Amino acid sequence: MPKPVIWTVDDDPDVLRAVERDLRRKYGDPYKVISADSGASAMEATRQLKLRNEPVALFLVDQRMPRMSGVEFLEKAIELFPDAKRALFTAYADTDAAIRAINNVHIDHYLMKPWDPPEERLYDVVDDMLDDWQSSFHPVFEGVRVVGNQWSPHSSEVRDFLGRNFVPHQWLNIETDDTAKQLLDTTGADPASLPVVVFADGSFLSNPPTAEVARKLGLKTKAEFPFYDLVVVGAGPAGLAAAVYGAADGLHTLLIEREAPGGQAGRSSRIENYLGFPMGLSGNDLARRAVAQARRFGAEILAPQEVTGVRIEGPTRVLKLADGSEIGTRALLIATGIAFRKLDVPGLDRLSGAGVYYYAPMSDAFSYRDGDVYIVGGANSAGQAAMYFSKFARQVTMLVRGASLSDSMSQYLENQIAATKNIEVKLNSSVVGVEGAGHCESLTIRNNKTHATETVPANALLIYAGAVPRTDWLAGVVERDAQGYLISGQHLVLEGKRPAGWTVDRDPFYLETSVPGIFVAGDVRHRSAKGVTSGVGEGAMAVKLVHQYLGLL
Ligand SMILES: Cc1cc2nc3c(=O)[nH]c(=O)nc-3n(C[C@H](O)[C@H](O)[C@H](O)COP(=O)(O)OP(=O)(O)OC[C@H]3O[C@@H](n4cnc5c(N)ncnc54)[C@H](O)[C@@H]3O)c2cc1C
Repeated sequence: MPKPVIWTVDDDPDVLRAVERDLRRKYGDPYKVISADSGASAMEATRQLKLRNEPVALFLVDQRMPRMSGVEFLEKAIELFPDAKRALFTAYADTDAAIRAINNVHIDHYLMKPWDPPEERLYDVVDDMLDDWQSSFHPVFEGVRVVGNQWSPHSSEVRDFLGRNFVPHQWLNIETDDTAKQLLDTTGADPASLPVVVFADGSFLSNPPTAEVARKLGLKTKAEFPFYDLVVVGAGPAGLAAAVYGAADGLHTLLIEREAPGGQAGRSSRIENYLGFPMGLSGNDLARRAVAQARRFGAEILAPQEVTGVRIEGPTRVLKLADGSEIGTRALLIATGIAFRKLDVPGLDRLSGAGVYYYAPMSDAFSYRDGDVYIVGGANSAGQAAMYFSKFARQVTMLVRGASLSDSMSQYLENQIAATKNIEVKLNSSVVGVEGAGHCESLTIRNNKTHATETVPANALLIYAGAVPRTDWLAGVVERDAQGYLISGQHLVLEGKRPAGWTVDRDPFYLETSVPGIFVAGDVRHRSAKGVTSGVGEGAMAVKLVHQYLGLL
């Protein structure tokens, strides 16, 4: 928490030094005493304080300064720090100006020069003002601040990115929050280039790609070494588990994640079926703990960083990354999970990020307080979202294509939904249109049995329509099934024949792909059980198989 600032401004260098010295002597410990010799330089420094979110407790300013008087300075400065206490230093001749300032800029005190001895003529007044200020001061937020528009897809993307990478941040909605407007003015950034991301050091970026935000935050996107024992691609539950157990077992391990640790699970508001957590836990918590655990064992984690290709060079598997760099590894584990299936519905793409979301971030739930939220999908992820959003929304409606929820959803969740008053389930229903000017305002829904359509007002459409693997970067290297899932173990040995190009004298291990030393775990694996627990189990098991493989080399 930064120390609150006491500002003193005076154009006379001797006076400035003296007042600064007296203030430091008494207040230098709990406060940061700073000074400037002109209103203009003080104004620029005040703007920087605002950008760094450092609170100002008190302005103590000389009235008689040649280019900008004390009152003129205070008029501007209090726009940035309206809660700061204000005092003017005046000579006897300026008393009238000081009295006028009491009304104009609501100064709290004026002090006559000289103020000697400070114990009698300065400290009591300053104590009084600081006590007042402290009594209504709320500690400021210290992390990254994002000024944006609630309905801007890019604002949502940046927020989601920060949240999922565990970066503490404060969201300031330009439409409803005066602080947001003030901060935007202070940066001087173009209001048409939102979001503006303001960092703790006061610097800011306008409408930045998330990769630039990552760079600025110092998120690690470059590997420390050119070669590892084990590289894991994808930091969902499977990849995180492999990183934890790989590093714990002494393998020099690197984990590479395209977006943010947690994978699909990171979007889950409450995983209720994970062993050892009878009250459930959020996917974000699970990911945060796993990342801490992996790091504690010495695993290196790159995020955001994408793997775009792989080639085999003898015993080395060489990975190509999106930034063009390459990394070699003795063993490779692919745990890239599955990616959301897109819906082809008129209006949907245009409003994506503006009330329409695939697997909406949980942090958005509050935005739909008292709103009408529609959820597409009938699997557990849709059910969890319905439960979570129902705590904020006026009404949640689930649109389910099939004739029953039971076919696709766990019984415990179906029961919870049935018992929640503000959730309605519409079976045999599909969304066929999304309408709205700047954001989602209404939906057209079709009954798949009767083909009747209706248009309903909607504040949000949240889509949980399943997912597919994205493994094109492995095409031609590793065998995949028709949907793109990676084939492993016994599924590769057909009528006793090992896969084409197989180079070692044994069958592939259970989680080994068609290339020796390249393993697969989690949802991306052909015929995997899917889910958090099986992902974690497979990630751990893969590490044991990697050991066996390395022992065989
Ligand atoms: C909203 C929601 C709720 C859910 N709730 C539950 C639940 O309650 N219980 C349950 O058991 N399951 C639940 N699931 C399913 C569960 O989350 C998944 O089965 C699980 O996350 C799969 O883990 P994974 O590690 O195999 O892959 P994923 O979680 O999909 O992670 C894969 C990771 O790989 C990264 N990646 C992909 N390609 C690359 C690349 N080329 N380079 C670098 N990184 C890459 C992705 O960005 C992703 O982070 C839920 C899913 C969702 C979406």
